[in-house]
Amino acid sequence: MANVARDFFIGLSNNQFLNTRAKKWGFFLGADKFVAGTTIQSVMKAVKELNARGISCTLDNLGEFVSDKTEASQAKDKIITLLEAIHQENVDCHLSVKLTQLGMDIDQNYCMVNIREVLDAANKYGIFVNIDMEDYAHYEQTLDILSVLRRDYDNVGTVIQSYLFRAEDDLQDLQDVRIRLVKGAYKESAEVAYPDKQAIDRNFVTLAKQRLLGSAFTSIATHDHHIIDELKAFVAENHLDNDQFEFQMLYGFRNDLQQKLANEGYHFCTYIPFGDDWFGYFMRRLAERPQNMNLIVKDVFYTEDNKLKKGPVVSGAAVISALAFWRLKVNRNKKTND
Ligand SMILES: Cc1cc2nc3c(=O)[nH]c(=O)nc-3n(C[C@H](O)[C@H](O)[C@H](O)COP(=O)(O)OP(=O)(O)OC[C@H]3O[C@@H](n4cnc5c(N)ncnc54)[C@H](O)[C@@H]3O)c2cc1C
Repeated sequence: MANVARDFFIGLSNNQFLNTRAKKWGFFLGADKFVAGTTIQSVMKAVKELNARGISCTLDNLGEFVSDKTEASQAKDKIITLLEAIHQENVDCHLSVKLTQLGMDIDQNYCMVNIREVLDAANKYGIFVNIDMEDYAHYEQTLDILSVLRRDYDNVGTVIQSYLFRAEDDLQDLQDVRIRLVKGAYKESAEVAYPDKQAIDRNFVTLAKQRLLGSAFTSIATHDHHIIDELKAFVAENHLDNDQFEFQMLYGFRNDLQQKLANEGYHFCTYIPFGDDWFGYFMRRLAERPQNMNLIVKDVFYTEDNKLKKGPVVSGAAVISALAFWRLKVNRNKKTND
């Protein structure tokens, strides 16, 4: 059942029609709880609020799998404007980027030109840039681009996903690179990734411990309190320095735990997505945790003071169709298994 829900939401995250519609319609389905508005001003407001509570941030101008040069170039310009805003506002914050937003699917050289422009601007202001890791189809290309960039830039790192069998080997090659460790958010084949959650979790802990024992700075990005507790104990037992790592979580998730970790003296960084290309990002979050559906139902059908909304709403229709489709898939799956 959990896998059917996961596959369903990941399927939606890749649906071009819904992605385009969602941009036009604006936020719905409760997405504003996990996305800090659509503008640089709105995301800066969120950063300042978190900074005031001792939390640093990394910003993601939402957008991915871009197939049009104009769109990629506009994204690059917006990211550079964002870097200027980070500098001018003097906030504690770095940048996260996706190479497919900067044209990796169009042409690798074109993407290289774009990411270099971004890194030049970030370098000028002393801002770190993390290259998000996307699906496995883009994995090798991302690591290749990173290795070329590392010859000229120190302010760039990437993400390694513990669901990949090759994660440990890749981390060996990236010991001197700042890395964010995650479990992995895409649907990958059993040929390249662990299919079961326990193995992914175990590998995450093993890799995190290896990094903590002697590599460059590591961002431990998970909402999993079991893993966080185990790593906190490991750090204490081995008398490791808190300056070697930070915990990271996504904007809007487990806010109490985010604040608790910051209050306990750990470096804490919140990953804040913003922009109107929110649909794919949001669907992947539902795939990870279908309980977030409760937020959707509340958002679509209830007003802020918990009263049932009146009249039809577009998003309601979208949700109902989505749920109906999901039920259909679950039932079909049950029948096949019976
Ligand atoms: C900062 C950040 C950056 C990321 N960047 C990337 C990237 O570049 N590429 C990529 O592929 N993926 C990325 N991801 C997504 C990541 O790969 C996982 O898909 C995602 O974090 C879910 O895994 P998890 O470890 O957080 O928790 P899960 O494995 O989903 O959950 C484990 C347990 O944690 C607890 N838990 C989790 N969420 C909640 C919640 N909201 N409320 C209460 N309890 C909860 C529950 O007990 C749950 O059983 C990123 C994640 C983060 C946090």
